[in-house]
Order: sequence, then structure tokens, then C-alpha cells
Amino acid sequence: MLLFEDIVRAEKIVSKHIVTTPVVHSKALSEAVGEQIYLKLENQQITGSFKIRGAINAISNLNPAQKKAGVVTLSTGNHGRGLAFAAKLMKIKCIICMSKLVPENKIEGIRALGAEVRLIGTNQDEAQLEADRLSIEEGMTYISPFDNINVIAGQGTLGLEIHRQTPKLNFAFIPLSGGGLICGVAMALKHLNRNLKVIGVSMDRGAAMYESQKAGKPIFVKEEESLADALTGGIGLDNKYTFELTKQLVDEIILVSEKEIADGIRHAYWLESQIVEGAGAVAIASLLSNKFKLTGPSIALMCGRNINIERHFTLISSKS
Ligand SMILES: *Cc1c(COP(=O)(O)O)cnc(C)c1O
Repeated sequence: MLLFEDIVRAEKIVSKHIVTTPVVHSKALSEAVGEQIYLKLENQQITGSFKIRGAINAISNLNPAQKKAGVVTLSTGNHGRGLAFAAKLMKIKCIICMSKLVPENKIEGIRALGAEVRLIGTNQDEAQLEADRLSIEEGMTYISPFDNINVIAGQGTLGLEIHRQTPKLNFAFIPLSGGGLICGVAMALKHLNRNLKVIGVSMDRGAAMYESQKAGKPIFVKEEESLADALTGGIGLDNKYTFELTKQLVDEIILVSEKEIADGIRHAYWLESQIVEGAGAVAIASLLSNKFKLTGPSIALMCGRNINIERHFTLISSKS
């Protein structure tokens, strides 16, 4: 299982290769909520999201034979990008499997980082089969975007940074999908501040971890399209780590609507001067919609900025 020391060790590896993203005080959100609100601007991280933290830590912890055989995953988004970046940095072979229906710009974005893109079939399941085959037959290591201890520890380095930058927090609002991010961050923050509460925020369309926690076990939840595309997808019926860790470490999970996410993206742009993708906006969206009665200084994590820039322009140009 995950230990605080794993996160401390991860930071020694990861910090050399990433930027320490700033924490800023938000005047607008503090006035809206009536408490002091801070923002962790991880949307400014290299590759546009926190995913390189986990990817670098996971690759660094492979043994020499595993490093030689390389890594494989299935992701068209931030994890694929983060893993490709980390593999290039550490000179490791990396294959990202995708369905043939993925837009060309996403394929190019990952190829530009030096990873091999393998296009198989017309849905995620067929691409998953190829990723599984590469790991079984060719000995490549499959790196899960969230259900991997070294990935979770890598994302946890964000918690160490947040504590150093703003030690007196009561609440942390953290975006939640598979749970690699929130479990790492909650482990770090709660170890350093026993009174702090960690609140997970997901979209209300197909919130797999929320529904699974309610059911008491990992369950299948139908995937739906959302502005917070980085939060869609399941937690795996064979979930090894993040279901249990979320149960232990996350105090509450709240859900936000598509309209609230759009308002969050607009707020980030017009009042905080930040470009965020949907998933990067859910934490502030939950504060703006007053979903949760918080007291005392609190932080919201803005975790990514990889949004189609034309879509972003359309969103920020409209009022609602
Ligand atoms: C991956 C991702 C998340 C969710 O992380 P989990 O570890 O799956 O909970 C949130 N925001 C962004 C921008 C992401 O890329």
C-alpha cells in the first residue's frame, strides 16, 4: 500500500524534471465564498497537466529489464502525453495504443513527444487488447493512469508542494476521476496536517468513483461525454488501490454540472487570468456553486489546461 515516504521519495525523482507551480490567493473566490481561498496553478505544469509527475515516478521505479522493454498505455489525453514526455526524458521505449477514431491532432501531439502511436480498431476496447498483448507477449510494462502505486505517489508530490506553499489549510478541493491524483495528494496533505479535510470533485455525468463508493465496491458506470473530458471513464472493476485509498482518505465527493464547469472555465479566465480545461475547472466550480459549506482557509486545485483553444474561445465569449 501507499506510504507517505513513497511520496517523499517520488519528489526527489520528479522535482528535477518539472516546474513547481505557484499557489495564489484568489480575491474573487474569497469574496464569493466568504473565506480565504487559494488556487494551486498546476494547469501551468509542463505538458499542461500534473500527469507527468506520476509518469516520471513510475518509469524511474522500473528495474533495468523493464526499462529496456519499455512502457505501454492506452490514453489519448493527459496521461498519454505525460507518459510519452517521461519516456522521452528517460530514453525509454513508449507505445500509446489508441483507436483509429482519435482526432489527428491528438495523435500528432503524442508523436511529437517521440512515442510510437499504434492505431487499432474503432473503439477503446480493441486498443486495450493491443496494449494488453504488448505487455504479455513483448514484456512491456503497462502503466495505468491512476491504479499504480508509483503513479499515485508521483501525483502526491503536488500535496507536498501545496503544504509548503500554504501550510494552514482546512479544506482541499481536488478533481477526481480514477483517483490517482486525489489519493496521492490526500495522503501527503493529511500526513502533514491532521485537521485538513479533502473533498473530491467530479462531474455529475458518469461519476464512477462516486457511484462505486456509494455502492461499496467498484462498479461499472456508463461513460458520458462531458466538458471535463479528463474525468470521464471507469475506475476498473478489478481496481487494486484507488478505491480503498479513496474510502480511507477522501472525506466527501461532490458533483458539478456541465453548466457549473463552464462557469468555472469562464471564472478562471476572466477573474484569475488562467486557461483551464473542464477537469481543471471543477474544483473552483464547486466553490462558485456553494455546494459545500467550508470554513477557514481552503485551496482548489486547477490541474490541467489542455482544452481545444477554439472551444475555449467559444466558452469564454458567451455568458452562459
Ligand atoms: C487525469 C486527470 C484528472 C483525474 O485524475 P485521476 O487520478 O484519474 O483522478 C483530473 N484532471 C486532469 C486534467 C487530468 O488529466
